[in-house]
Amino acid sequence: MDLGISGKTALVCASSKGLGLGCAEALAREGVSLVMNARSEGPLEASAAAIRAETGVEVTTVAADITSAEGRDKVLAAAGQVDILVTNAGGPPPGLWSDWSRDDFIAAFDANMLTPIALMQALIPSMAARGWGRIVNITSQSVKAPIPVLGLSNTARAGLTGFVAGTARQVAGQGVVINNLLPGIHATDRAEALDGAVVDAQGITMEEARAQRFATIPAGRYGTRDEFGAACAFLCSQHAGFMVGQNILLDGGAVNTTL
Ligand code: NAP
Repeated sequence: MDLGISGKTALVCASSKGLGLGCAEALAREGVSLVMNARSEGPLEASAAAIRAETGVEVTTVAADITSAEGRDKVLAAAGQVDILVTNAGGPPPGLWSDWSRDDFIAAFDANMLTPIALMQALIPSMAARGWGRIVNITSQSVKAPIPVLGLSNTARAGLTGFVAGTARQVAGQGVVINNLLPGIHATDRAEALDGAVVDAQGITMEEARAQRFATIPAGRYGTRDEFGAACAFLCSQHAGFMVGQNILLDGGAVNTTL
């Protein structure tokens, strides 16, 4: 299927690895020029070089912390005019409800709620003025079904979801389509870190921790970054123009709901 977005420009945040990288790769394969971002320069440059070599698209890299105002300014200045925005950042650490201080909550809000909101506020006006834009926010299955040890994530992402629900409907008439992609467990460094925490907490092996988690996923496995990227590229496509303000689960059936 031709997604109809060749020649567009996408800003994909936090994209040197994992799910963000999957989105960048899938968009590049559709002929979309990229602005890629991550904090560490080495992996960012390596991923950008691999994408250039595979697809031939133009890739601009910006090493910066997207959760800081300075980082966002740097990324937005380098990006210029953007047609497609994929928001993403690292997820908050696990813990117990009683562990977290006000500062922990503020950090989670900054990373997983206020940063995507600030990026949308910065880029929607020019998308709307040109009558076309696509925004995908990478959130989490925890928006639909809370993950108790990820209380900071549950809280911050619920706030972002509320913002998107209203805003998507305010800007849809101007050709700007906003949706959220909700990953379940995918085979990335983040999943490795979460499984590592289970290993430490329960005194079991990594294989046992994985087997325990696989058993909670009807598909019986973790998702891949290619699968995630392909879904993201579709949401950024011409074909997704009537799909507004949705929260799309990619979780192998792990969240047990009818709707
Ligand atoms: P990952 O494999 O650890 O990759 C994270 C990427 O984001 C890296 O490129 C990292 O590069 C970059 N990054 C992290 N913090 C950043 C920051 N402040 N500014 C700029 N770049 C930043 O993580 P992932 O699995 O792809 O997860 C992505 C998001 O999806 C996270 O919010 C995670 O909580 C959420 N999620 C993931 C899963 C899963 O199973 N993987 C499930 C549900 C939700 P640098 O470290 O160099 O900055």
